[in-house]
Amino acid sequence: MSEKMQFQAETKRLLDLVVNSIYTNKEIFLRELISNASDAIDKLRIESLTNKSLEIDIEPEIFILPDEKTKTITISDNGIGMTREEVIANIGTIAKSGTKDFLDKLHEASGAAAQELIGQFGVGFYSAFIVADKVELITRKVGTSTASGVKWTSDGAGEYEIENCNKEINGTIIVLHLKKEFTSDDTLGEYDFTDVYQLERLIKKYSDFVRYPIKMNFEIKGKAEDEPEIEIRTINSMKPLWARSKSEITNEEYDEFFKQQLHEWEAPLDVLHVKAEGTIEYTALLCIPKHAPNNLYYSDYEAGLQLYSRHVFIMDKCKDFLPDYLRFVKGLVDSPDLPLNISRELLQQSTGVKVIGKALEKNIQKQLGKMLKDDRKKYETFWKEFGKSIKIGVYHSVFDTKLQDSLKDLLIFPTSRDGKFSTLAEYVERMPDFQKKIYTAAGKDSAAIDKLPQMELLRDRGLEVIYLTDPVDEFAVAALKKYADKEIQSITQENFELDDAESQKVKAEVEEIAKTREDLLKDVKAAIGDAVNEVRLTSRLKSGAVCLVTGEGGPSLTMEKTFSAMNNSLFKAKVILELNPNHAVFKKLENLHAQGKDSPEFKDLCNTLYSLALLIEGFMPENPAELANKITDLLTK
Ligand code: ADP
Repeated sequence: MSEKMQFQAETKRLLDLVVNSIYTNKEIFLRELISNASDAIDKLRIESLTNKSLEIDIEPEIFILPDEKTKTITISDNGIGMTREEVIANIGTIAKSGTKDFLDKLHEASGAAAQELIGQFGVGFYSAFIVADKVELITRKVGTSTASGVKWTSDGAGEYEIENCNKEINGTIIVLHLKKEFTSDDTLGEYDFTDVYQLERLIKKYSDFVRYPIKMNFEIKGKAEDEPEIEIRTINSMKPLWARSKSEITNEEYDEFFKQQLHEWEAPLDVLHVKAEGTIEYTALLCIPKHAPNNLYYSDYEAGLQLYSRHVFIMDKCKDFLPDYLRFVKGLVDSPDLPLNISRELLQQSTGVKVIGKALEKNIQKQLGKMLKDDRKKYETFWKEFGKSIKIGVYHSVFDTKLQDSLKDLLIFPTSRDGKFSTLAEYVERMPDFQKKIYTAAGKDSAAIDKLPQMELLRDRGLEVIYLTDPVDEFAVAALKKYADKEIQSITQENFELDDAESQKVKAEVEEIAKTREDLLKDVKAAIGDAVNEVRLTSRLKSGAVCLVTGEGGPSLTMEKTFSAMNNSLFKAKVILELNPNHAVFKKLENLHAQGKDSPEFKDLCNTLYSLALLIEGFMPENPAELANKITDLLTK
């Protein structure tokens, strides 16, 4: 039965990009298809460990067959294969979260920026369309009959055709019908992918560590002069890189390894190669990618390391080695001390895994610490991509002071000093003697925080403030509470006060005024209603008229928003509206109050002040149209 089907919309958009070849590197298609073939053989091996009825006595192999006459390359594997449903699900759709966001971003970017973006998003199988204008995929799932083969064909233009067919053995065959510029027809072309030696070069370059033999036919001189014979050769060395000694491995080899082994599209930011020979022997080859994957914080992101035992692949995405906050670390662990056919469940309880995991976690922390010290620029690149993960780690370390101690010095934040990143230690080092606490302020970005009315006095006094611009920042510093015995204090919380004599004097004055304005404050609160928990006078403002602050120890307004986005409305911020008694608008408020606390003018002013305070903090008032009307009235008065 032959059927024509449409690609899912996002897949089609992605395909357009591939076909219109934004990839400068045309060669990588082969690496991608070989990686898929090798994964398919892995899957078959794992399946056969648990499903004894599968009799697999053929040696695993990947075969590459270029053909000058038909202008094709055929890539076949004897791996697990796919059913019809699996072909439709795997090849017709892209299931990753964030694909749409990614495509939208890409749409806006151009040139080098687009190149970089696309590099972060592996398109895997679709890379076939970089070099081919028609792709056929013939596959048969292991354990099914000869007649249950499936043939998928597409020219990458929006539709594909799928039909049943016969296939002798399990596995997948991919036939690439090459575009003219990749054949010998195009004499000016850079590449002729129908040439075995070109392909041999690509396999050696990109797929040397693939753990199954990649074979090709070579013509050699036969006995008779004009009758060449065919010799089958294995191209790749298959020797695992991690088994070699570190000093013998070049950076390029590491880079290529991660690209081919982990389907990375670019060289990693940092590599960690650990060999341990204690009670438990293991080798780990880990990397921090240059860019965070689009779905890093989505539930379909699969963290985890590959697991090998004596160089034999056991399991992909093994989550039990590293804690969640290191979910961005990729790589593999090879240990002879872990049993070959261990199940995921048993693995979780394995002390070996725990010991290795703890050691790796320490190693990664140490390596990051070293990067921060020795190569600040690289660390900031890391931080922009993965800092969020470390902050989540700090947040989760509330009850684990040891973890907190090992992570707190990895934190960096921009500060009001010059907008540059600073560690907490560097901040504390710069604190003047009279400053007792570490000051923080949260907002959507540095510019928004800079404009907070609460910042004015601090700026005047030359005090530096740490900017918390990611919602998770506030959670992280709330978990820390202190650094180097100095309390961390938000300048937008109720108990904030400056310690210097001048500030203390102003504070005492305001407290005096407040004593005589109790009625006024009570009536302002009544006019606004439950939206605020308290109204009071403040000494933290200079030229600003109003501000909002939140209760000590409780969530801030942004935290409350984050909680409610997670459908958790239990965490409510205690909201306090603060008025500057030295501002002209306060005098106006007093005058209107004197005319009567129930007068519409008084109530209006109270609510307008509250709305403005919300706006200043970056929140939308409940009824923006009403506020706009009031302001328009004021402007025309
Ligand atoms: P990725 O490899 O990143 O998952 P691909 O687009 O390369 O993305 O492939 C999508 C899916 O198609 C794979 O996850 C796999 O399930 C399936 N697939 C691709 N190539 C093969 C193959 N040679 N044999 C079996 N399954 C394959």
